[in-house]
Amino acid sequence: MRHLVSPPRLARGLGGSPVNHAANVLLVEDNPGDARLIQEMLAESSQDQFRLWRQADRLSSGLDFLDQGDIGMVLLDLSLPDSLGLDTFSSVFARAPQVPIIVLTGTDDEVMALSAVKTGAQDYLVKGHVDSNLLQRAMRYALERKQAERALRASEERYALAAAGSNDGLWDWHLLQRQVYFSPRWKAMLGFSEQEVGATEDEWLQRIHGEDLPEFRERLGRCVAGQTDHLVAEYRMLHKDGSHHWMLCRGIAVRDAHGMTWRLAGSQTDINERKLAAQQLLHDALHDSLTGLPNRALLMESLRRALDRAQRHPEHMFAVLFIDLDRFKNVNDSLGHMVGDRFLIECGRRLALCCRPEDTLARLGGDEFILLLDDISGESDAIRVAERVQADLEKSLTIDGHVLSMSGSIGVAISSPHYTQPEELLRDADTAMYRAKAQGKACYSLFDAAMHARAVAELKMEADLRRAVEQQGFHLDYQPVIALGSGQLVGFEALIRWHHPELGPVAPAEFIPLAEETGLIVAIGRWVLSTACEQLASWRSLGPGLGHVTISVNLSSRQLFGNNDLVAQVADTLRRTGLPAANLKLEITESILMADVTAASEKLRQLKGIGVRISMDDFGTGYSSLSYLHRFPVDTLKIDQSFIRNMGKSAEAVAIVRAILNLAQSLKMDVIAEGPETAAEVQLLKSMDCPHVQGHYFSRPLSVQAAASALRQVDPVWRAKLPAAAGREE
Ligand code: C2E
Ligand code: MG
Ligand code: MG
Repeated sequence: MRHLVSPPRLARGLGGSPVNHAANVLLVEDNPGDARLIQEMLAESSQDQFRLWRQADRLSSGLDFLDQGDIGMVLLDLSLPDSLGLDTFSSVFARAPQVPIIVLTGTDDEVMALSAVKTGAQDYLVKGHVDSNLLQRAMRYALERKQAERALRASEERYALAAAGSNDGLWDWHLLQRQVYFSPRWKAMLGFSEQEVGATEDEWLQRIHGEDLPEFRERLGRCVAGQTDHLVAEYRMLHKDGSHHWMLCRGIAVRDAHGMTWRLAGSQTDINERKLAAQQLLHDALHDSLTGLPNRALLMESLRRALDRAQRHPEHMFAVLFIDLDRFKNVNDSLGHMVGDRFLIECGRRLALCCRPEDTLARLGGDEFILLLDDISGESDAIRVAERVQADLEKSLTIDGHVLSMSGSIGVAISSPHYTQPEELLRDADTAMYRAKAQGKACYSLFDAAMHARAVAELKMEADLRRAVEQQGFHLDYQPVIALGSGQLVGFEALIRWHHPELGPVAPAEFIPLAEETGLIVAIGRWVLSTACEQLASWRSLGPGLGHVTISVNLSSRQLFGNNDLVAQVADTLRRTGLPAANLKLEITESILMADVTAASEKLRQLKGIGVRISMDDFGTGYSSLSYLHRFPVDTLKIDQSFIRNMGKSAEAVAIVRAILNLAQSLKMDVIAEGPETAAEVQLLKSMDCPHVQGHYFSRPLSVQAAASALRQVDPVWRAKLPAAAGREE
């Protein structure tokens, strides 16, 4: 072995990167003549590109040189003393597969040389037919090919690594042959082994879900037609286990010089989990978690679609049924929320049975359900469904051993051209439902024009009322209460008055319920209490004889039961106005007290605790059982005017009034008879020893000024008005 020359400078490889030892040539040749020839040719290498670096006359020493690692090219004679033929090539190739090898052969073994090329030699040269140029050209090409091979292999490795790492399946589609290469991962994602899926496009397209295929074909078509370069699509694919998996397909088009797409290649990703999670999120956002029914948001969508359709096709009719369960609160309060929930679920199930596939059943929350009947032929369809719903709900139901009955009140709104917003339909169905409830439970009611007008008027009234609260648009009238024995004025009832800017005076019976419903009553009540107390406090300073005069203030249900601190409010008002507690009477209707006996009696006790007096208003209309009466710390019963009015016509009314008077006497309660208008009524009451009256016969409710002058009169007119005694009525 000998070193022939010093190492050449670095040669440049493909792409311009330096390649070490590229031109260090190892010549393995046992024939000294041939070796010399090659040596000479290499010496002629014009650009010093190749240099004979090592030279061996046997395979073994050639392999030793290769082991040193600085060889860039091998010129190899296949027939050597220690190795022959293809074996020679194989040994060298195995030792240094990265080094290009050019085989040198005699004319007689060209066939063998060809086999060497097939198994990895870069080229072969036939000895005796080689000149310097040919040799150099062969070596140059060999070097370049080897470098290209290396780059390609690196790139392929990189690609394979990336593909394996990304977990995606790969595909490569030759459109003309309709052949597709599917990577093993592509097949595995669908549960198949390598052999189970062929290479045709049908293997792909036939597994795509029928609903998703048209869209995929369309996208594919656009890509093939050259409208886009990138293919992106999502579809479900049939898995081997029979389920469908959501897949994301991405690809890119390859086109020829004429712009014709001949190949598409890309990846396929399993996005099933992400897709299902997204679908679940969407479902949750649009459904009620308890019953699984559509919620308000989804219902609004459906309503909007129905409205749109009705606008486009005026003959298209639909109906909205607002279903409110009767007495659901009782179930919840008495049996607990668990039973309440199951009750609602069962109710949803029964309602669903009344639906056709095109209808929407939604739960708005609480015990409110909406049934949207799409495409009906008329009102009668909606009514028929409402009746069926009621019949189905009324079948009794057993939960945890409790046999429960249910019923629903239903309001129906029918589509019409004046509806433009879903909310309007819901609102009107709601209004109709309230009317159904008012008619008694388990009724249905159809929203009509009169109801609409009423609803609109009510809305306006509510806005006006709100304004009146803000701008103090109320005042109080005071109706005298007269002692029948002496004819003396003993007190007033403060009665609220509202002068509506357009409508004029509006009766309390019209706006108090509305104020109660909207919660405005709390602010109004506070104002009434404070104004009435201030007024009486200021009247008391008019003269010394007025110490006994009382003022009665009406309380509403919200004031009594709401969490506004009524007791503190009353105490505070008394302190501020200086009015003694005993001069204030609070009037609460019998029906309010009966709504919650325990809470009411507790509240009354607290009020009594600060010294005010309590009157039970409209007594006789609230169906209170006598057994309850003693539980309320009540000072005064106010007999409802309906009994007083009827005394002239019915003996029963007289008997009732007498019974109330007797009852009050034995319970040591005071009585005020409300609403006597005639001398005969007053006479009758007086004859029954009714202690007090408050009615038009003596006086209508008076303005502040009129009430003040009534107080000032030394010899009150009331006594003069007392009917001439006609003796005691027996
Ligand atoms: P109420 O507390 O039973 O008041 C008595 C009602 O009977 C008053 O009607 C009064 O004007 C009327 N009235 C008195 N004598 C006669 C009579 O001889 N004949 C006839 N036909 N009616 C007579 P008003 O002022 O319209 O009040 C109606 C109801 O509105 C009251 O009934 C009371 O429940 C409620 N209300 C009045 N003011 C207030 C208030 O400030 N707060 C609350 N919460 N409710 C009030
Ligand atoms: Mg009253
Ligand atoms: Mg009354």
